[in-house]
Amino acid sequence: MNHGLGLKEILMTKTFLALCFRKVPGFGLVLFLALLLVNCSHKAAIAPPTGSVASTRSVQPSPRVSQPPDSSAKVVEHCFVDPGTPQTITHEVAPLETIWRISKMYDVSPEAIYAANFLRPGDPIRQGQKLIIPNAKGFRNVIALYPNSRWKYIVIHHTATDVGKAYLINRSHLDRGFWNGLGYHFLIDNGTLGKGDGQIEVAPRWIKQQSGAHCNTAGMNEKGIGIALVGNFNEELPTTNQLQSLNYLLMTLTQYYHIPVTNIIGHRDAPGSATDCPGKRFPMANVRQCLVRP
Ligand SMILES: [Zn+2]
Repeated sequence: MNHGLGLKEILMTKTFLALCFRKVPGFGLVLFLALLLVNCSHKAAIAPPTGSVASTRSVQPSPRVSQPPDSSAKVVEHCFVDPGTPQTITHEVAPLETIWRISKMYDVSPEAIYAANFLRPGDPIRQGQKLIIPNAKGFRNVIALYPNSRWKYIVIHHTATDVGKAYLINRSHLDRGFWNGLGYHFLIDNGTLGKGDGQIEVAPRWIKQQSGAHCNTAGMNEKGIGIALVGNFNEELPTTNQLQSLNYLLMTLTQYYHIPVTNIIGHRDAPGSATDCPGKRFPMANVRQCLVRP
């Protein structure tokens, strides 16, 4: 800002200089040092931090490693795929994903991830960035549960596409002008575009506990948790892994938020909707039946 220049202007006014030079012996040297100091501090204020580049302005907020996204959140993990031997893999950062989440997902310490990617703790990461994950132990689905009384329904969707991942769908929704990008709260991948088959991607709307943009009838965006599975279930069935992950997610959410099984609906079941989502072949009855506890 211009604080330095303002002071410089005051120091350089004719009246001020004349007064000081006449009245104070040695003032010239003091003035020179003062101007030097003012100039240096002004430059320091406008210079970018060492090592930063302009593109870092567009990155996500800096992740706080080893901290859950919200201290009141309960975090549950579902050990989904065990590869046997740990392997080094590449992970593409999804929207609002943090080192904390990625660390839990692969059971690899944040420090090891930072070291493998020449990052310092607290360095920001950006969506779409490729991170090396050393000694990854399969992947786990990590779900944070936030205290919130608004969630009364769960609405299931399909993406109506053969392939997909949160990063791409988020960009596509932004390009189409959807408020806040990815409209769902969760996305269950089908093993395409580098994502795991049955991998649950947690969308920014869930992390921020925002309304969805997935079902604009019957107030479902406000009271319904939106879960989409990647696939076109007019043509095919969800994969077994997708259904297992969906079952796990539904169990977790219905128990925590006390949502009755009858309030798990397909998008087409929402009053006023005109769609066949989540697809004619989606096994809605089986999905509900699996959740009924004896
Ligand atoms: Zn839908």
